[in-house]
Amino acid sequence: MDIFDVAVIGSGPAGSMAAKYAAKAGASTILLEEHPAVGWPVQCAGLLGRKALAESELSAGTFIRRGMFGASVFSPGGARLDFKAKERRAWVVDRRLFDRALVNHAMQEGASLRLCSRVRGLKRDGERRILVLSDDSKISARVVISAEGVSAILARRAGIAPPQTILSGAQVEAAFAVEDPDKVEVHLGQASGLFAWVIPLSKSAARIGLCASDRGCDRLRAFLKSDIIAKRLLGSPVALNVGGLPLGPPAATAVHGLLAVGDAAGQVKPTSGGGVYPGLVAAKIAGGVAAAAAMEGDSSAQRLSEYDRLWRATLGRELEIGMRVNRMMAKMKPSEIDELVGYMAAKPRLIKAIEEHGDIDRPSRLMVRMLRHLDWDAIRLARLLGYALA
Ligand SMILES: Cc1cc2nc3c(=O)[nH]c(=O)nc-3n(C[C@H](O)[C@H](O)[C@H](O)COP(=O)(O)OP(=O)(O)OC[C@H]3O[C@@H](n4cnc5c(N)ncnc54)[C@H](O)[C@@H]3O)c2cc1C
Repeated sequence: MDIFDVAVIGSGPAGSMAAKYAAKAGASTILLEEHPAVGWPVQCAGLLGRKALAESELSAGTFIRRGMFGASVFSPGGARLDFKAKERRAWVVDRRLFDRALVNHAMQEGASLRLCSRVRGLKRDGERRILVLSDDSKISARVVISAEGVSAILARRAGIAPPQTILSGAQVEAAFAVEDPDKVEVHLGQASGLFAWVIPLSKSAARIGLCASDRGCDRLRAFLKSDIIAKRLLGSPVALNVGGLPLGPPAATAVHGLLAVGDAAGQVKPTSGGGVYPGLVAAKIAGGVAAAAAMEGDSSAQRLSEYDRLWRATLGRELEIGMRVNRMMAKMKPSEIDELVGYMAAKPRLIKAIEEHGDIDRPSRLMVRMLRHLDWDAIRLARLLGYALA
């Protein structure tokens, strides 16, 4: 049986970054991935903000498809808000190449990678955990990091509760008449859940998807047939990717011998469904705490709860505010979304604030700035905010 300080389950962005930081801290670390290749199948639109890219610690590479400068936001009734910054605010990436680059960095720090290695069970053995793989081989680790993604079967069995809610995401790629290849399109109210998107890959191709409360594929099919999309499709959609988006982290993300990180811990921005940025931030903390605890020989729940405390201090408030905004958007009637988008579109100072301070990774900072620009006729919109504060 192979023996390690830290075993990480899942080689997505959170798993690779946790493995990198555990190895960097001096722990013998193994990264286990069930698939024969890293980064496949893709379950992502691949839109990353500046902070996500910085947190990845990768220099811009072949994984970047193009930069985005702004967005056009559409309400269900046709109101429209446009903004475009002077610099790139987000990047469209190829997640396969991005994930592989992250794994390479983890290996350069000394982590071992084992592909085709599904962990099918976890057992306690005194102070250690035994990971049972699909081929019945076993690995012993002092601390396990579950970076299994949204299903997180092993984390749940170990006592990590599920996220507050799981949304249903679906996306295709298609030849498409893109209006502005520098801007993402956000279509509000098209899918009860978050929103639908068009992310340009070029002037004539885009990723089109949505994130709904349920039945993501059915709702995407309906969105593709809607007037605003159907007439711009230039070919049959391909590359369907579907997956769940966990929102609202559980009360505890550390139990005896195991930490959960990334989607497994519900670390996803509730305003956009973006999980790469929070996952990377939390993974660095998880890797460091797991390595220290393993090398001290203390994998108790109390020792590992340091991870829980540290990641919440960094991300907790942002995710909490995001959940409130998400609830508000879910409760808004289409006419209220029309009103809100129309109101904002008519306020040049608000648009300037978005252009100057927009940050998809930390949206709450922009929201606070925007509140300053609301004048008193916006008070009628307070009932909308009331949803969020309820
Ligand atoms: C349609 C859609 C669009 C999205 N768009 C964006 C976006 O534009 N930007 C963004 O930031 N986020 C986006 N997300 C969310 C983002 O994809 C996830 O938050 C992110 O991939 C989570 O990373 P992770 O490392 O936690 O888990 P994952 O990337 O899911 O990786 C988990 C890994 O664990 C492996 N695994 C699972 N169980 C086992 C096991 N028992 N043994 C071994 N290996 C195992 C899996 O094979 C997988 O490789 C989107 C999600 C969806 C569904």
